[in-house]
Amino acid sequence: MQAFQFMRANSIQHAIGAAAHASTAQQGASVRYVAGGTTLLDLMKLDVEYPQLVIDINRLPLGEVEHTATGLKIGALVRNADLAQHPVVKRDYPVLSEALLSGASGQLRNMATTSGNLLQRTRCMYFRDTAMACNKRQPGSGCAAIAGVNRMLAVLGTSEHCIATNPSDMNVALMALDASVVIHGLRGERQVPIGEFFVLPGGDPQRENVLEPGDLITHVLLPAPPAGTRSHYLKLRDRASYEFALASAAVAVQVVDGHIQHVRVALGGVGTRPWRSPEAEQALKGRAPNETAFTAAAEAALRDARPQSQNAFKIELARRCLRHALATATA
Ligand SMILES: Cc1cc2nc3c(=O)[nH]c(=O)nc-3n(C[C@H](O)[C@H](O)[C@H](O)COP(=O)(O)OP(=O)(O)OC[C@H]3O[C@@H](n4cnc5c(N)ncnc54)[C@H](O)[C@@H]3O)c2cc1C
Ligand code: SF4
Repeated sequence: MQAFQFMRANSIQHAIGAAAHASTAQQGASVRYVAGGTTLLDLMKLDVEYPQLVIDINRLPLGEVEHTATGLKIGALVRNADLAQHPVVKRDYPVLSEALLSGASGQLRNMATTSGNLLQRTRCMYFRDTAMACNKRQPGSGCAAIAGVNRMLAVLGTSEHCIATNPSDMNVALMALDASVVIHGLRGERQVPIGEFFVLPGGDPQRENVLEPGDLITHVLLPAPPAGTRSHYLKLRDRASYEFALASAAVAVQVVDGHIQHVRVALGGVGTRPWRSPEAEQALKGRAPNETAFTAAAEAALRDARPQSQNAFKIELARRCLRHALATATA
């Protein structure tokens, strides 16, 4: 681990101001906020991340979940364990509770926060090994995974520069819930729909989202679900706990008079970003919730999948995962 400066922020403005000051005073010094630390500290110990300034944001008043007339306002520092057990989340957004509880372990969920989970980095093993070529860690160095061990990696949204998956379970559920991310930066506050928050790797895999240097996530907003919506998260993995997804599906479905009226479909473990599938949603809208419709949706969701040498199995696994999640949600 490399030496770094450390400070605690007392307010949102203090945090943003300190990040901006460090960037200007030290000519583009890299700055990281630390929340639960369960991603950042690992990566700092591995020398994958080496910020010059670490700003602890745990004193900021961002640890509450507010139930408003329009939905839920989740503070960036709400711990994954608390969010999963929140009574309104369990009642109105079960897909989110299930996704959170399927991730990591009890100890990690007690530390991990909403914003940290949103921004967790890929688990591609070459990214975490500074001896290996990795365009995400070291732009222009190449991608060791493409000709290497790629069984866990993505089949959707890949580029010739990077095939890493977004590993978060929570992010997949947020896609199915039409979440928005509230960001505070030097230019004020803005809200970004979750579907526009993550970017594809393209030729610049180092950039994973639309955040600018020094931007602080303060909240995640969830709109109230359409009346009668049922939602579900299904995660398939090599072992039953403490393991990242090979494939997962988050679905939210409203059935009216025997037909699907509102539907959201998102996949995890298979995309370079949490993967919303408008194609699958289109295949389901207006149809009766049955096996024929679910199969059509699963085909549509994976139509553009491009496997690597070791992960073709994920395509059929993701199809089955989605069919099963839809059947459970609408049963
Ligand atoms: C052994 C292990 C197993 C795991 N298994 C799973 C799993 O199965 N499923 C899963 O989804 N996850 C899993 N995780 C990942 C875990 O969910 C994340 O490490 C955790 O959610 C990160 O949250 P944190 O608060 O600790 O983030 P931190 O480590 O504090 O921060 C992560 C990143 O977010 C940035 N950041 C944090 N908050 C803000 C903010 N408010 N504004 C701007 N930037 C911010 C930090 O600068 C850093 O870059 C696992 C982790 C470990 C170590
Ligand atoms: S897949 Fe992406 S993260 Fe993994 S080695 Fe290639 S460039 Fe790096």
